[in-house]
This record gives sequence, structure tokens and C-alpha cells, in this order.
Amino acid sequence: MNYKITTYGCQMNENDSEKISGMLKELGHVSVDDENRADMVILNTCSVRENANDKFFGHLGHYKKIKKEKPNLILAICGCMMQQDSVVAEVKSKHRHVDIVFGTHNIHEFPGMLSDHMEKHEMVVGVWQDGGEIVENLPVDRKYDFKAYVSIMNGCNNFCSYCIVPYTRGRERSRSIESIKLEVEALAKNGCREVTLLGQNVNSYGNTLEETIGFATLMRELAKIDGLERIRFMTSHPKDLSEDLIEAIAEEAKICNHIHLPVQSGSSRILKEMNRKYDKEGYLKLVEKIKRRIPEVSLTTDIIVGFPGETEEDFQDTLDIMEKCRFDLAFTFLYSPREGTPAWGRKDQVAEEIKHERLNRLLEIHHRIGKEINENYVGKTVEVLVEGISKNNPKNLSGRTETAKLVNFPGDASLTGEIVKVKIIQAKTFSLDGEIVK
Ligand code: SF4
Repeated sequence: MNYKITTYGCQMNENDSEKISGMLKELGHVSVDDENRADMVILNTCSVRENANDKFFGHLGHYKKIKKEKPNLILAICGCMMQQDSVVAEVKSKHRHVDIVFGTHNIHEFPGMLSDHMEKHEMVVGVWQDGGEIVENLPVDRKYDFKAYVSIMNGCNNFCSYCIVPYTRGRERSRSIESIKLEVEALAKNGCREVTLLGQNVNSYGNTLEETIGFATLMRELAKIDGLERIRFMTSHPKDLSEDLIEAIAEEAKICNHIHLPVQSGSSRILKEMNRKYDKEGYLKLVEKIKRRIPEVSLTTDIIVGFPGETEEDFQDTLDIMEKCRFDLAFTFLYSPREGTPAWGRKDQVAEEIKHERLNRLLEIHHRIGKEINENYVGKTVEVLVEGISKNNPKNLSGRTETAKLVNFPGDASLTGEIVKVKIIQAKTFSLDGEIVK
């Protein structure tokens, strides 16, 4: 069969889709880009965004029409949304044109569910409520040869009051250091230059393992692998970022000087209500410590604007932390209540127009600082891992520095996957322009 996977949401979902695709390819099925050519469509869903459920069910309605014209099309749905009982119940009662439903903990069961469906021609539903041991050695159909996501742990134990992830991805479980090393060694052998280690909170890697292995130890071990040139990671919870990790980043050349450190709010009061377990002062001290030890570090963050009860004074603290930390990049979100989370249904919601107005003020500061930081790169020569032809200009290549800056420059597509030296000639708010240095 030809199949098409559409992935929503974060890198964890992208990595899961690569595994689903790996299993299907191993069975002889063929991935296609054009959905019209597909015999099977797989939707890997995300439940983080506002109105995600409404949009998703609207989308399912669209496939009802398609299946009238193409009754043999197999429609499989999976991902975080399927971990919500209410979603699965609605699919079962109102969307009988769906063929297969599975969750985030049992993607390895998909091939079995597919053959069940093909044999019985009925809807097959299997969603595990929690993850057991992490299933190792699933085939992975990677999007790129030269860079790869490697998931090092699943789940999260933090229960931030706005977040659905602990309910959809279950409790934290770490993979063993041996299995991660084997995977990264195999990748490096096949020409992979850069790995991004994935977990909801990589700083607590190892907590569920019998041996006492921290995230810094794992990174140092991976840095010994020949052929591998860059190690990235995400996401770091500020409450668990250790001195050891800062030292490992400072000392190991292969560990990229980039930390994504979601602050979420600058107000200690709001951080408490978010259950983040650090306050403004603690976060500022941590950033100061990181910048002192790794002066060239690039810091990126996530910020939620308009958490319930956020006052102008609270928001001023967010603006202040933005000025003080001088983030290279901030992913900003307007708070939207997620059903099933502790903050769901709070009465003190911030009005939409106030949220938007605050977001605009935040972005103004963010854009100014981002441009100022990028201007410091002008005239410097940086190493860029070439990711391919630029999306905006087919004459340009684009790639990233170890500090995760996006760089565009003229060059030949054959350089994709190589690390090249580029002299920066112009700074933009979110990217740099340069030229290759011979
Ligand atoms: S650390 Fe908080 S925001 Fe991140 S996944 Fe866990 S609960 Fe969600």
C-alpha cells in the first residue's frame, strides 16, 4: 500500500511518525507525499494547541467524504489526542469511518492492528492508559541522513498546571544508556553528523533507571562516538538543570552551545500557580550561571501570555525577564485552557484582547533583542550544518550554527549534510545571511 502520515505537534510526535513509517516500510508499504495517491492515511495528532479537538473532528469529517469516493482507503489515527478517553469515545460513536485508533504508548502494536483491520474489516481500537517499558529497536524511517532525533525518555512527572502532556504521554521512563549509545553509534556510522536528544524533561534523564546516571553523563558518553559532530537536546526544565550539565556543555566541543530553557512566565506568583517549582530570582540566577560559564551560549525559551489571573504587574515581570535574559529566540503562546488540566475551568481567565495586547508588547522586545544578538554575528565566520535548499529562495542553502541560528547563503545543493564555514554579512531578526568561506 501507499501511505501518507501527517504529523501535528512537537518533535516527539515527529519521532513517533518516523517509527510508524519505519514499521510500514519494513512491511513493504511505500510512503507518498501526495495524499491523493495514498491507500492509507495516518494522522498523528497533538492536543496542546487551542481548539485542537474541534479542529481535529472537523478534519475527520473531511475524510468521511473522501471515504465515500474511496471506500478502501484506510484511515488510522494516533498520537496524544487518542490518550483522552473523551476523544476515543467520540470517534467510536460518531466517526465510524475511522479504521484504526492507537495511542502514544503502543505505536509498536500498529502493524498488528493493521492486519486485524484488514482481516475483519472493522474498526480496531487499542490505547494503553500508561506506558510500560520503552519498546526498543523499532525500525525508524528517518527524514534526514545527516541529522536525527533520538528519544531518550518518555513521559513527564511534572504536572505543570496548564499542560496535558503528563496525561497523554504518561509517567517518566528513561531508556538505558546502552540502547541510546547503540542507536547513536549506528546513526554516526551511517553518516549522521548531528543528533537531537528528545524528552519532555531531559534534565531528569536516568531518574527511573537502576544505575545512577545523569543526563550530563549520557551526553559525555555520546560525545565519545566517532563521526558524530553535534549533540543537541530538548527540552530542559529549569528546576532540574544541573551544574554537571553546564560543565559538560562548556567542556565538550560536540555538545552544542544552545539551551532551550522554557521560563513560561517572569512572575514568581504565576510560576507557582503553574506549578513550575522555580521562581523569577531562581531562573535569573540560573541564566547568569550559564552565561558566566558558557559566554557564547544561545538561550531560547517558551513563554505563555495570559495564564489565568495574570495581572499587568505579573506581565511586567515577564517583560523584565525578557530584557534581563536576552533570549535568542522565544516561542510565545497565548494561554488556552486544556480540558483535563488543573488550570482548566478557572474563572479568572484573562480577556482575549488583553492577551493579544500583552503578546504584542512582548514580541516588540523579543524582536529588538533578537536582532541585536544577531548583529553581533556580522563579520564573524561560523560553522553551519547545511540542511538543504532554502524554503524562501531556491538559489540559497540554509543550515544552522551550533547555537541554532538559521543561516542562508548561496551554494550548491550537493553540500547538504556537510558542515561548511560561512561568513555572516547581514543580520535579520530571525536569521543570518552569509557567504561560504573557501
Ligand atoms: S515539564 Fe510541564 S510543560 Fe513540560 S511536559 Fe511536563 S508538565 Fe508539560
